[in-house]
Amino acid sequence: MKTEPTKKTEASSTPYRSGYVAIIGRPNVGKSTLLNQVLGEKVAIVTPKPQTTRNRITGIRTTAACQIIFLDTPGIHRARSLMNRRMVETALATLREVDGVLWLVDAREGLRKEDEEIAQALSESKAEVLVLLNKIDAVSKGKLLPLIEHCAALLPGKEIVPVSALKGDNVSLVLELVEKRLPEGPRYYTEGEFTDQTERFIASEIIREKIFLLTREEIPYSTAVTIEEFKEKEERNLIVIQATIFTDRESHKPILIGKKGAMLKEIGKQAREELEKLLGCKIFLELFIKVDSGWTQDPRALTDLGL
Ligand code: GDP
Ligand code: MG
Repeated sequence: MKTEPTKKTEASSTPYRSGYVAIIGRPNVGKSTLLNQVLGEKVAIVTPKPQTTRNRITGIRTTAACQIIFLDTPGIHRARSLMNRRMVETALATLREVDGVLWLVDAREGLRKEDEEIAQALSESKAEVLVLLNKIDAVSKGKLLPLIEHCAALLPGKEIVPVSALKGDNVSLVLELVEKRLPEGPRYYTEGEFTDQTERFIASEIIREKIFLLTREEIPYSTAVTIEEFKEKEERNLIVIQATIFTDRESHKPILIGKKGAMLKEIGKQAREELEKLLGCKIFLELFIKVDSGWTQDPRALTDLGL
């Protein structure tokens, strides 16, 4: 049977809207949580530690009336190492390419020096800006009001919306406000696509997230994950993944392996379970550890890792 796409009459009378919207803000303010919340899919890894997101991750939200393509940027913060500097450059460069910006502020912590720098960059940007005061589930009204005033003083005329990315409070309002401000444009991606990241990349991010959640101190920050092999065995509904965890110090290797391999096993188990849910099939995941001293300072190594 041939199935014709059913056209809604209203869709033909109002033009389709689409555009790029960056989610920016200091590390840990809840950018990835918001992205996952508006998509209803996990495309960005979320951890309680700052600087988890290194690459831009796009999420695509498609409705009958519009398509929003979100860019989850690495947090903007003071950069010391080359890797951190590249991440900040990426975030600032994003502002020049987008139609809209969602600037997230952590309402629990209020504004810091970095936030004022972000506000400065935003006031010079041509993009539509919405200021989101996030984590209102964890903050009293009395603390919120002065923060709203402070933000209004920094960015006069911009809309300020208190939200909880975690609980979903006011997230649909934010989407409405974004949709209204989008320019007319085509549907860039087909309906089923929710990210332009490959499954391969998502697999490496999920492994990295587990390292962040299971190890401490500087270990997560000194690791990178590359996927050596990603093979689909269709006849058995199985994906075989081989990944290498790079660390820049010899002393981190035994910690990542753990007692009798317990840590590596746990990282692998948690990553595998999540990937099986996400990709909807059995996963065979093999992890290796390699010491590569100084990868965080080596421009070529960073480029190889997509940073
Ligand atoms: P990012 O670094 O800006 O991408 O921040 P994440 O999305 O990784 O979130 C950092 C931490 O803040 C995680 O532990 C989240 O669970 C937490 N978080 C994010 N949004 C909210 C929120 O609305 N309320 C509360 N209470 N916590 C949140
Ligand atoms: Mg993030």
